[in-house]
This record gives sequence, structure tokens and C-alpha cells, in this order.
Amino acid sequence: MARYIYNKETCAYERYELKGKALRNRIYAILGFSLTIAFGAYITFLNYSKPLDLLEVERNNANLRTAWFHLNFRLGETEQKLKAFIEEDDQNYRVILDAAPLSPIERQAGVGGAIRKTKALEEHALISSTFDRALRLNNRLMVQNESFDELQKLLDKKLRQWASRPAIQPIDNRDVLHLHTTFGMRLNPVLKIWTLHKGLDFTAPTGTPIYATGDGVVQDAYHSDSFGNVVFIDHGFDFETRYAHMVKFIVARGEKIKRGQVIGYVGNTGRSAGEHLHYEVLYKGTQINPINFFQRDLSNKEYKKLLEFAKTENSSLDY
Ligand SMILES: [Zn+2]
Repeated sequence: MARYIYNKETCAYERYELKGKALRNRIYAILGFSLTIAFGAYITFLNYSKPLDLLEVERNNANLRTAWFHLNFRLGETEQKLKAFIEEDDQNYRVILDAAPLSPIERQAGVGGAIRKTKALEEHALISSTFDRALRLNNRLMVQNESFDELQKLLDKKLRQWASRPAIQPIDNRDVLHLHTTFGMRLNPVLKIWTLHKGLDFTAPTGTPIYATGDGVVQDAYHSDSFGNVVFIDHGFDFETRYAHMVKFIVARGEKIKRGQVIGYVGNTGRSAGEHLHYEVLYKGTQINPINFFQRDLSNKEYKKLLEFAKTENSSLDY
């Protein structure tokens, strides 16, 4: 290998040759440098080519494991929430609504499901077990969802039943001057004979509002010789109420009625010995004592006093 260098003393370019050891050293140096570059390139290649894929796979694996851990944690949380729902369902809602608790077999209904695992899933125990866990949870949630649907229907029915039940007094306590609480045998005030009295008599001034005691439909509203102006309400669920001797009624047959709605006013029509409301409650077509439905309107002390009064009172105002 030859090259030319500038000689300052002769002011001319002179041929210069690399020979022997110096040349070898130079070749070794270049070779060494080249090997270093190649090794560097190889390392770079290892790091950023095929090893890059491996690193990525490892990173992905780590991310998947983290995701799997979070997924299992979330599944655990959801299982705990579902367990609380099931306990609430069985121990509270079903007790209140008179529904039998679901058996463990019913609670597990459908486990296994229609979803089939792929071969790949079956080969990975970790994923397979999580898959099973999620499937079990899903099935139990579906059963719980159906249970809530059933309870919602029961609740709607109960609410209608509770709203329909004749559960209040037909006249405000503040308007009642006297309550003839006799239900059963009583002395007829005009005929002076013992007859069966099938309701309660509330003495109140003529014109005092009379309230429907539960939701229902007006079965009849008319004038009769005995009851005077009278309203019959059908509450469904085997309950009926009757309101007699009104000065006038303000509802008509077939009209839908809400509890607490004014249906007429106290009077002295029909076979009545004074201004009062004769009130009856019927269950399955038979009169029952309305006093048993008034507790909601009274304090315990007032109710106890009323019951005591009912034992001694044996008169009424209708005949
Ligand atoms: Zn009466």
C-alpha cells in the first residue's frame, strides 16, 4: 500500500510506503475496528431484531399477567357483591314478600352453560380456570337477575294489595264525635231488640267528609231504604267496604277510587236514628270487624283504649 505525504523541508510530495510490522499492525487495527463494528452490529441486531421480539413477548406476558391478576381481583369483588345480593334476596326481600328462598341447586342452575371452551383455552390451566370462574359468576348473576324480576312482580302485587286494603278510618278522628264500636250483637235503638250489627257507626256532623279506606272500584252507589245513600267499593283481593246513611255521595258506579279520596258526606238517610256513618268491611263476602284495620291511624295507647271501649259499647245508630 503506497500513499504520498508533503515534506516541509523539500517542499514536495514524497511517496511513503507501509511495510512489515507497521503494516500488519495497521491491518490488525483495521480488522479489530471492523470486528468491533460487526460485533456491535451483531449485538444491536440481537437486541433490536429477534431478541426485540422476545422482549416484546415477555413484556406482553407481563402485561397479560397483570391484566389477569386484575381480572381475577375484579371477579372476586363481583363475587362478593353477588353474595351480598343473594343474602339480601333470601334473608330480607323473600321474607318480606312471603317468597321461599332459592335452593342452592336453583342458584347453580345453568352452570356449565352453552359456551364451549376452545382447545387452546383448555390447554392453559390458568386461563381455563378463570374462564370457568367467570362463567359460574355469569350464571349465578343470571339466576339472581331472574330472582329480582320475580320479586319485582311480587312486590308490585303486594303494593297493589296494600294500597287496596281498607286500612284507614273512613272519617278523620278530629271529626268523630262518638264511635259506636259494636261489631256483633247489639240493641236496636228503635226496635229495642238484639240484632246483629255488621259494622261500626261513626257519629259526626252532617256534611263531614267520608274517605275511601283503600284503593278500589265503586261497585255501586245508590239510594236504598235501609242504608240511605250508600257506596259499595270493591278493593279486589277479596275485600269490599260499604259506607251508608250519607247525606250524599259524589262517586259513580265503575269509578276508580284511591285511598283517602272523598266519596261522600255524613248524613242521616235511610234507617238511621241520627247523623252518622255506618261502615262495613267485608272479606270474601262476609263482614269482619273494621276496628282491626285502624291501628295505622292511632297510637298504641289510643288503639288500646278503642279496643277496651269496643268491649263495653253495645249500641248503634242504625236500625
Ligand atoms: Zn251501623
